[in-house]
Amino acid sequence: MRRRYLLVSDFDQTLSFDDTGHVLSERLGIAGFAERVAGLSRLNLVQEGAELTYLLRHDPEFRRVRRADLAEVGRGIRLKRNIALLVELLRAGLDDMAFEFYVVSAAPEEVVHAALRGLVTPEHVVATQLDWHPVTGEMQGVRRVAAGYGKVAAVDALRAQLGVPSERVAYVGDGTSDLHVMLHVSRGDGLAIAASEARHITQIARRTVMSDDALSVLIPVLEEFGGWAPPRIRALFERHGLLIQEWDRVRTDWLTIAPRADGADAADAPEGAAAPAPAAIGPAVEPAA
Ligand SMILES: [Mg+2]
Repeated sequence: MRRRYLLVSDFDQTLSFDDTGHVLSERLGIAGFAERVAGLSRLNLVQEGAELTYLLRHDPEFRRVRRADLAEVGRGIRLKRNIALLVELLRAGLDDMAFEFYVVSAAPEEVVHAALRGLVTPEHVVATQLDWHPVTGEMQGVRRVAAGYGKVAAVDALRAQLGVPSERVAYVGDGTSDLHVMLHVSRGDGLAIAASEARHITQIARRTVMSDDALSVLIPVLEEFGGWAPPRIRALFERHGLLIQEWDRVRTDWLTIAPRADGADAADAPEGAAAPAPAAIGPAVEPAA
């Protein structure tokens, strides 16, 4: 009897190197995408990750985007290596573990479908859905936004539909749009995996994996869910013609050290009072398992 797991992945900069909004802006020659997103972010007007959807709907320059532009952007997005093998291994299952693999993305589904064509079927993609005018081709509405809390709703719906318990859910993501769902997955004793070194993400993830290869997500999944040891994971990769060349584990301590608020320095400390212990700054390498 196989145990079923749900592995959900973000798309932008988790399965890809590029960010959809940046690629689209470049393609259309629209300057200042990052500034527009930062402005929306300061206002907290839309959920983190939903900025592009808002701009497509309301920004005069982005309103000229058509479905075909989005599909074109998707076809041009640079993907991480070995997504096909990842999907194949998950579909076949590993040990007594069977996996359902889904992509949940704040990007418009036209982009994600085109980018992952032949790799992930559209039925396994939950992305932002827009409405398009049948005659003018203009975007005329938003049907669903899979950003921020929208990702929690998407993962919960998948979990209910597939009947997977919360502790057998893994989510991998890299950005602020993934914060809610990673907290939600962690609270259910699932596995939140960061694919970025950004502090706000790594602090809430149980594991962080940095690689330009999509298969890297299997390492925390197999270790945490399957109890696999590194030699076994290396052997699995080697059976598929891949060599893990470098595998460094680093735990990072983030510190900000400021002068004491009372203005006292060490020389003023009363006789016998211990000076504060020096703090170690910088990455500490974990002892080998
Ligand atoms: Mg992302």
